[in-house]
Amino acid sequence: MDKVTVLAQYLPPDAAPLIGRWIDYFKCEFKISRNRGTKFGDYRAPHLGKGHRISVNFDLNPYAFLVTTVHEFAHLHTWNEHKHKAKPHGTEWKNNFKKMMQPFFEKEVFPPDVKQAITSYLNNPAASSCSDLTLYRSLRKYDAPKESVHTVEKLPLKALFKLKDGRIFRKEEKLRKRYKCVEISTKRIYLFSPVAEVEVMPEA
Ligand SMILES: [Zn+2]
Repeated sequence: MDKVTVLAQYLPPDAAPLIGRWIDYFKCEFKISRNRGTKFGDYRAPHLGKGHRISVNFDLNPYAFLVTTVHEFAHLHTWNEHKHKAKPHGTEWKNNFKKMMQPFFEKEVFPPDVKQAITSYLNNPAASSCSDLTLYRSLRKYDAPKESVHTVEKLPLKALFKLKDGRIFRKEEKLRKRYKCVEISTKRIYLFSPVAEVEVMPEA
């Protein structure tokens, strides 16, 4: 399969051709990687005979995948211009990130709220990689909903739910900040955070 077709499965489709051209133009080894938990993407400068290398986690939604990809390409471009003289998320990187984001704004690949969050992120001098919560939250909103995972607060009263370890509970009333829930097998009462993620049981 050609590169742009593969990229279009991860990126907003209108963004794929340009990223494909960047990969060629910058002679970059671009890898779609497994989820590494602690980071969305990674850039490695040429070293010991290897060229530029970028990797981006496969499980990001298309907007987060694009923002991460542009973030890493801005590292590459900054390295080409300044080598070790520029700080990883310093002014030079930031200016390149802004500049390299422009074509995607012009193509209007982002929904308005994401565009807004990226713009304020770009204008915040303290912003660095993934530490901007507003940006992170607005990107997270576009993640596909997890299959049958719900939070305790969203369940109806008396609903049955299951934890990862297999134990089954029934949701009862709210006590102050938490929900009283009864473990079915032991009849013991537990208190659950409203945002605890649980699996919904089919109606008995
Ligand atoms: Zn970075």
